[in-house]
Amino acid sequence: MFEFTEEHKMVGQMVRRWATEKLEPEVDAIEAGEPPYDLMRDFAKTFGLAEMAKSAFERAEKRARQGHDNDSADSDRSKNDKKARGAGGLAGADPALSAVVGIELTRVCPGFMLAFGASAGLAGGAIMGKGTLEQKRRWGLPLLTWEKVGAWGMTEPGAGSDAFRSMRTVAIPDGDGYILNGQKTFITNAPYADIMVIYAKIDHRDGVSMADRPIQTFILDKDDPGVTRSKPMAKMGMHASPTGEIFMEDVRVGRDRLLGMNEKPVGRQSGKDVFHSERTGMAPMCVGIIQRCLEICVDYARERQTWSRHIAEYQLVQEKLARMFMHLQNAENLMFKQLSLSKAGKSMSAAEASATKLYCARAATECALEAVQLLGGNGYMREYRVEMFMRDAKLLQIGGGTDEIQIINIARHVLKEN
Ligand SMILES: Cc1cc2nc3c(=O)[nH]c(=O)nc-3n(C[C@H](O)[C@H](O)[C@H](O)COP(=O)(O)OP(=O)(O)OC[C@H]3O[C@@H](n4cnc5c(N)ncnc54)[C@H](O)[C@@H]3O)c2cc1C
Repeated sequence: MFEFTEEHKMVGQMVRRWATEKLEPEVDAIEAGEPPYDLMRDFAKTFGLAEMAKSAFERAEKRARQGHDNDSADSDRSKNDKKARGAGGLAGADPALSAVVGIELTRVCPGFMLAFGASAGLAGGAIMGKGTLEQKRRWGLPLLTWEKVGAWGMTEPGAGSDAFRSMRTVAIPDGDGYILNGQKTFITNAPYADIMVIYAKIDHRDGVSMADRPIQTFILDKDDPGVTRSKPMAKMGMHASPTGEIFMEDVRVGRDRLLGMNEKPVGRQSGKDVFHSERTGMAPMCVGIIQRCLEICVDYARERQTWSRHIAEYQLVQEKLARMFMHLQNAENLMFKQLSLSKAGKSMSAAEASATKLYCARAATECALEAVQLLGGNGYMREYRVEMFMRDAKLLQIGGGTDEIQIINIARHVLKEN
C-alpha cells in the first residue's frame, strides 16, 4: 500500500503553514482579480524551487554533455528532468511531493493551484519534457524558477473536446522557420504569460486536409511580433487563476521555437502526454477540495444548533459527512495508485487516467455542493469559503477533458477489452 513518508508529511506541514500565513490572507484579493504571481514567486523562494530546478537542470545538462544523454526531443527521460518538472513544478520533487503541494495549496485556494500548475507543470513540463537542452535552458527553466509565467495553449473557439481534429491554428513552414496564425481560448495564465506553449497544425501545402495535418508544438514569447493576449475573461470560478485568449497573426518564428527542433511524425503525442498527466494530476486538487470541505462541515455541524441540538446529531447531516468521507477515501486511493505506479516507473493506462479524473472531479463537485448545503445560509456567503470550492470544483469536470470525454474513453476501452 502506498503511503506518504514522514518527509512528505513534513513538507505538507510546511506548505500548510505557508498557505495559511501567506495565501489565505490574500485569497479575497486574488479572487477579486489581483494577479497571483507574486505569491507564487514567494512560494518558490520560500521553498527554494529555483535552486532545486537549476541544480537538477545542471546535472541533466552535464550528463548530456558527457554523452549519456542527447540533445534531442526525447532527451528528457532522465530522472533529474522528470524531477525538475513534477506536477505543479515543484522542482526537485518526486510526484508524491508534488501531490502533497497540490493538496495543500488547493485546500486554501484551488484557483491558485490551477494557475501555479498550468505555468510550471503544463507549460514548464511540456518544454522540460520534449524540448532540446537549449529550449529547456531558455524557456523551460525560467518557468520552473518562476522568473517567468507560462501558459499551455491547446483549446480554440472551435476546437475543445475535439481539439486535435478541429484545430485551426496553423504553422506554415517558411525558410528555416514557420509563420503561425490562429487563436487559442480559455487558456490559463494567458493574460499574464511570458512564455506560451502553442499547438498548431503544420501546413506543408501538400493537399492534406486540415483535420489530418500533423500537430506540432511551438514556444512563443509574449514579445514576438503578432502575438497578443486578451484581458482576463470573466468566469464562474477559479477566479484566482486568470484565463484568457491568445491571438497569433503572422507570427514569424525560427525553427528553435519548434519544441524538440524536429517535426515529429506523431505530433499529437506531446498534447496527449500532457492530457494524461493533467488527468492523473488533478486527483490531488480533488483531494484538497474534499478534505477542506469535510473539515469545514464537521466543525460547523458540531457548532451549529437548531431546535437546541447540534446539527451533527441529525442523520440527514451525518449522511452528507459520511458521503464526503467515502469520496475522500476513494479519491485518495486513486491518487495513491497513481503515485505508487509512478514510483515503480509506470503510469496509469489512458482508461485508468480517465476513470480517475471522472471520479475525482465528480466527487469534489458533489462534496463542495453539499458543503454549501450543510452550512445553510452561511454556506452561500463568501466568508465560509465553501462557495468558492463549489465554483472552483466545477471546472475540474470541464478542463483537461470533460466528464463526457472521460466516459467515452473508458467505454471505448471496456468495449474493446471485453
Ligand atoms: C477555467 C478554464 C481553464 C482552462 N485552461 C485551459 C488551458 O490552460 N489550456 C487549454 O488548452 N485549455 C484550457 N481550458 C479549455 C478546456 O480544456 C476545454 O474547455 C474543455 O476541453 C472542453 O472544451 P469546450 O469548452 O470546447 O467544450 P466542447 O468541446 O464544446 O463541449 C461542449 C459539451 O459537449 C460535450 N461533448 C463534446 N463532444 C462530445 C461527444 N463526442 N459526446 C458527448 N458529449 C460531447 C462536452 O462534454 C460538453 O459537455 C480551460 C477551460 C476553462 C473553463
